[in-house]
Amino acid sequence: MTLSSKGTALITGASSGIGAVYADRLARQGYDLILVARSQTKLDALANRLSDQTGRNVEVVAADLKASADLLRVEQILRRDASITLLVNNAGVGAVLPLLDSPVDDMQALINLNITALTRLAYAGVPGFVARGKGTVINIASIVSIVPETLNGVYGASKAFVLALSQSMHHELAEKGVRVQAVLPGATATDFWNEAGHPVENLPQEIVMNVEDMVDAALVGLASGETVTIPGLHDGAHWDQYEAQRQVLSGVLHNSSPAPRYR
Ligand code: NAP
Repeated sequence: MTLSSKGTALITGASSGIGAVYADRLARQGYDLILVARSQTKLDALANRLSDQTGRNVEVVAADLKASADLLRVEQILRRDASITLLVNNAGVGAVLPLLDSPVDDMQALINLNITALTRLAYAGVPGFVARGKGTVINIASIVSIVPETLNGVYGASKAFVLALSQSMHHELAEKGVRVQAVLPGATATDFWNEAGHPVENLPQEIVMNVEDMVDAALVGLASGETVTIPGLHDGAHWDQYEAQRQVLSGVLHNSSPAPRYR
């Protein structure tokens, strides 16, 4: 059966892990795909499999999103290709070491990918979505965005940036027809952990989610209209209370005089 196209989904970090599962699921939902990552070989293999299995059009773009010329190429695709209806801002790297053991150049490289590239791609894609009155941005954050003490602090802060940017984008863009979802995975069984120098096998297995389950849950969250989806959070009331308290705070954070406790 051939599904009618839902437009094109551009997925960064699509050569493995979470991005590759998004590619699989979105092709089966009827999206054509543009797959972005550094590994041309892995992208080609995935593209061939998915176009054979689903009949969708799948293009690949080999690009290092830390390199500004490559990033600009992907930005241009987002600006020029009006068939793109979904951006999955997924490419990212992790880090597990504390500040004193982390070379600052590694931290800068992490920021370049997790923050700069994600931001520039959102800025490249969103104006077209607004002009066409529809589009969706999925930003892959992490649970460490709200518990930055868990892993490396710059990694946690980069994901706090992704969460905050997503909340602001939702606030600014929802009425313009643009959907924004931040996904906050917990530990998920992908190459991420090996790349970060901490094999996933070393984690307590009761906290590690299978990557297919993680992406399928995130897509259920998207379909149900969530702005923030936390696949591993069983009692959603915890997030609702946290968010309600944030809204209360937003009304009481500023005042023309300092709080009495600071006098
Ligand atoms: P992964 O399997 O290591 O995938 C990372 C993807 O990003 C790969 O496709 C990789 O492909 C691509 N990538 C890395 N550096 C790149 C660069 N400079 N330019 C372009 N693409 C690049 O890890 P994952 O778990 O799927 O991670 C995906 C996202 O989920 C990340 O943003 C991560 O922070 C987030 N996340 C993961 C977990 C977890 O426990 N796994 C938890 C929370 C959040 P190439 O090597 O071919 O470039």
